Amino acid sequence: MNMQDFRLDGKIALITGASYGIGFAIAEGLAAAGATIVFNDIKQELVDKGLAAYEEIGVKAHGYVCDVTDESAVNDLIATVEKEVGVIDILVNNAGIIKRIPMCDMTAAEFRQVIDVDLNAPFIVAKAVIPSMIKKGHGKIINICSMMSELGRETVSAYAAAKGGLKMLTKNIASEYGEFNIQCNGIGPGYIETPQTAPLRVPGNPFNEFIISKTPAARWGTTEDLMGPAVFLASDASNFVNGHILYVDGGILAYI
Ligand code: NDP
Repeated sequence: MNMQDFRLDGKIALITGASYGIGFAIAEGLAAAGATIVFNDIKQELVDKGLAAYEEIGVKAHGYVCDVTDESAVNDLIATVEKEVGVIDILVNNAGIIKRIPMCDMTAAEFRQVIDVDLNAPFIVAKAVIPSMIKKGHGKIINICSMMSELGRETVSAYAAAKGGLKMLTKNIASEYGEFNIQCNGIGPGYIETPQTAPLRVPGNPFNEFIISKTPAARWGTTEDLMGPAVFLASDASNFVNGHILYVDGGILAYI
């Protein structure tokens, strides 16, 4: 066992949608392990906010504006990163959206928008980085899935469909590109304290009580809880782990 296998020195990691929240924390973890951080977000204000936040924690990050649902913008982003920073060793498909709307009240356009960001975009970004990973002889792709990759729940039909699809895309990339020394795995966060879940985390809110009572850890997860699993899946320590989803959920999936 060589602890150096967990290090990411000399590796370049692209984390999508990582100005704040889970993506930012994962980037912080990868940077602590030695990786150079590249991130994108959908708007310049978010990229600026992200750059300031990375500077505050002492991480020199490279930030770009890019809508991950736009294939030509993604291809331009990857070409720019390769020129300005280098070939990407680690891709974390983190950017995502959720729309909490009962299925029969949801329009087809709203459904499509969620599928576009949460499923089509990881395909687009992975497709853009894999050729260079093949040339380089290795690559790590981590898709941020969800408990909803396994479960259905009221008001999240599009999100569950997208995240379930992302789980299967993960397995497919693993089986199709494993022979090129590319490992593709997913992380399935449980209920995590982020701005996305802030409206749910109100004391007295029945959903908040449900989470606390059903999670064996009896708490919401923190973004920090995702750092170690991300470093593991990005590192050589996980070179024989391919096509799996690592649920980081305080045990709730084992219980409900
Ligand atoms: P968010 O899901 O709110 O957002 C992540 C970032 O992605 C935001 O900066 C967002 O911008 C950006 N983004 C949205 N659409 C695009 C796009 N088309 N192109 C580029 N960037 C985009 O943050 P979280 O930290 O909560 O979630 C991160 C990931 O973790 C998501 O995939 C989410 O589904 C998943 N997840 C989160 C859980 C949680 O409890 N929070 C639980 C399970 C999974 P903007 O702010 O403008 O929307």
